[in-house]
Amino acid sequence: MQRFQCYIDGEFSDGEARFESIDPATGTAWAEMPEAREADVDRAVEAAHNALYVGPWSKLTATQRGKLLYKLADLVAENAQRLAELETRDTGKIIRETSAQIAYVAEYYRYYAGIADKIEGSYLPIDKPDMDVWLRREPIGVVAMVVPWNSQLFLSAVKIGPALAAGCTMVVKASEDGPAPLLEFARLIDRAGFPAGVVNIITGFGPSCGAALSRHPKVDHIAFTGGPETARHVVRNSAENLASTSLELGGKSPFIVFADADLESAANAQVAGIFAATGQSCVAGSRLIIERSVKARFLEILKAKAEAVRIGSPLDMATEVGPLATRRQRDHIDALVERSLAAGAKLVTGGSAPDGAGYYYLPSILDCDGSASPSLEEEFFGPVLSALSFETEAEALALANDTRYGLAAGLFTRDLTRAHRLMKGIRAGIVWVNTYRAVSPIAPFGGFGLSGHGREGGMAAALDYTRTKTVWLRTSDEPIPDPFVMR
Ligand code: NAD
Repeated sequence: MQRFQCYIDGEFSDGEARFESIDPATGTAWAEMPEAREADVDRAVEAAHNALYVGPWSKLTATQRGKLLYKLADLVAENAQRLAELETRDTGKIIRETSAQIAYVAEYYRYYAGIADKIEGSYLPIDKPDMDVWLRREPIGVVAMVVPWNSQLFLSAVKIGPALAAGCTMVVKASEDGPAPLLEFARLIDRAGFPAGVVNIITGFGPSCGAALSRHPKVDHIAFTGGPETARHVVRNSAENLASTSLELGGKSPFIVFADADLESAANAQVAGIFAATGQSCVAGSRLIIERSVKARFLEILKAKAEAVRIGSPLDMATEVGPLATRRQRDHIDALVERSLAAGAKLVTGGSAPDGAGYYYLPSILDCDGSASPSLEEEFFGPVLSALSFETEAEALALANDTRYGLAAGLFTRDLTRAHRLMKGIRAGIVWVNTYRAVSPIAPFGGFGLSGHGREGGMAAALDYTRTKTVWLRTSDEPIPDPFVMR
């Protein structure tokens, strides 16, 4: 079995305990992981705190920080295939996607490398003649980063990149489900030459490691990606240290298709939106909202595509749908499909796990018209689509917004004015028109409502890792006048 280690204060170490990681394609243990508990968390946060205030990191110029990030970007690009194989092995995400995604992760680091020396303070036109006043932008402090299992290198890059550009130090907690790629990534941090303690990478379980990290008194900000229930724990923990939070949570994203759309293209985007990554995507377009006149035709096209999907080993480049990351996840999906069928949803295709080893689930479609299916509200985080139909544009918009989530939305129509109207009316942080599941380091990403708050990607994300300091400098040589009056 392969063994992985934590990376704390520039050194690789075993955790306080160890646990086995399961290969989801076979259901058998393949690697031993370090389990960080409270003492490891404390060491890691102390290391980050020292690196921020005492170590050489605080003395580097922004340009030097940028150079380290460029080096890291190159190392990620050079090692993308190896990291992709580890992610595929440990989480079941298909190699076809992990290799492309991790190569693109390098671009996130490159983007934030360029931003490091473009984070500027400002000079204030203050209303007093003998004062110069500036706003300095300083790093927000020690950041705790907690990520879920899917796309860990990607979900951590959108935090680590801007946080390093801003000059922060950090403790990154990889998910206990599939931590291998992130623990291995620590070797690249080491090789890039970041001073000890700037980036610490650990893994462990939520209630012990995650909780200890998010309530640690020396943590200033928590950047969390995961489910809303866990986010509530994190926010409660932050009542201890009063750290600020940014939350990237789940979704129940609408995918609206009008009769005038290119149905073939919309169907491909819908497949990307719900079956890619075996549906384990926060932006999964899991609620199809389809104009009634083309519902039967569109479902027919989708059903054919779902049934033609190549299911297989995630390490095979030909595979399109691999296993779910954990048995728990597959059981959750299975149970939610059962409850939805019991509530009146009709099965169009799929609806069960195929025979054989591994945590697979068939690409599935539920027709939810006329039912109160729980699948319309609860996140599967799996390859299950729930379909509803509409007659009017107003009805489509009402259905799209009938959710407490608000991460993403897809809209397929050739009618430009309608696209503009709906784009404004949809309550979601990202709206894709005639496309789906497109991301870029340049474009902010994040949600409304139960999907969280804060944005990742873009310049604003780097500014979110800063806090301002107001500096007053008196330019007069005269003695300070009346000390009993606030000036
Ligand atoms: P999760 O919420 O169960 O776990 C996420 C992380 O939180 C893990 O590292 C876990 O160990 C940690 N954790 C668990 N309990 C904790 C606690 N009490 N205190 C601190 N940390 C704790 O999420 P998951 O099931 O691993 O991932 C799936 C969820 O993530 C889905 O809801 C999905 O939509 C969401 N997600 C969101 C985005 C986004 O960018 N919006 C991206 C990917 C996934």
